[in-house]
Amino acid sequence: VFTSESLRIGIGDDAAVLDLGATSKLVVTSDLLAEGVHFEAGTALPRVGHKALAVNLSDLAAMSARPLAAVVSLLLSDDTALQSAKAVVEGMQPLATRHQVAIAGGDTNSWSGRLVISVTALGCLAGRSPWTRNGAVPGDVILVTGSLGGSLGGKHLDFEPRVTEALRLAGDYEIHAAIDISDGLSLDLARMATASGCAAVLDLEAIPISDAARSLAPAPESKSALDRALSDGEDFELLLAVPREVAKTLKRAPPFELPLTEIGEFASGAGIWRRKPDGGRAALEVEGYEHL
Ligand SMILES: [Mg+2]
Repeated sequence: VFTSESLRIGIGDDAAVLDLGATSKLVVTSDLLAEGVHFEAGTALPRVGHKALAVNLSDLAAMSARPLAAVVSLLLSDDTALQSAKAVVEGMQPLATRHQVAIAGGDTNSWSGRLVISVTALGCLAGRSPWTRNGAVPGDVILVTGSLGGSLGGKHLDFEPRVTEALRLAGDYEIHAAIDISDGLSLDLARMATASGCAAVLDLEAIPISDAARSLAPAPESKSALDRALSDGEDFELLLAVPREVAKTLKRAPPFELPLTEIGEFASGAGIWRRKPDGGRAALEVEGYEHL
């Protein structure tokens, strides 16, 4: 893989970071959604458009970058191409407007297959360092925004990427590491712990479980609500490693309405653990959505 001197962060984090002169940095991320994989055939196209932009803004938020623009490429079914393109892009507009993201271009083509959408989002860091996955240190508190699990109930399409919260936190607080939860709390936490070279210990009873996870859970063959919160994925909440003093300040004076919950801590060693009632710890099985 060719790299250049301006590449600060390459493959392996939520987005790439490039130097633009002495103080500015460009943050770039790209996500591809395919019908039948990331959304079901028949899903309203504006919702699909919203999701395609939102997953990218979530990755920018995980780096604490301010979104600037997105380019959108669509591979559409032959018969309804123009109509579908309009519906997808219309679905992006409210989110783009809320976060001041210019839809700056892209490409469209049609073919005989299913709908495929690729969005590349560009963000900037003015004079700040990006959040990364690898900065957690033993003793850091694990914080998570919002609530987790059951996103298949609808949140995976309609979620709000945590851009506002990320910018607020990055501007005013020391945050050691961050990731957005795309593939499940336990799996994304494991990625963060591994990248940071430390262990993570979860207080399972502290994990904020979504109403959707609770309402999906009752069927006997179904996962428990807690298991859903740990492994369903597509929550697109922020998972943060924060110095204990900073976590105390955040708890005393929350900087925004969205809940920010302490769910455990990083520790020396390796692996993902759950805190036992007696104060000891037991290994936690890491589950989630594994890509290729
Ligand atoms: Mg991500």
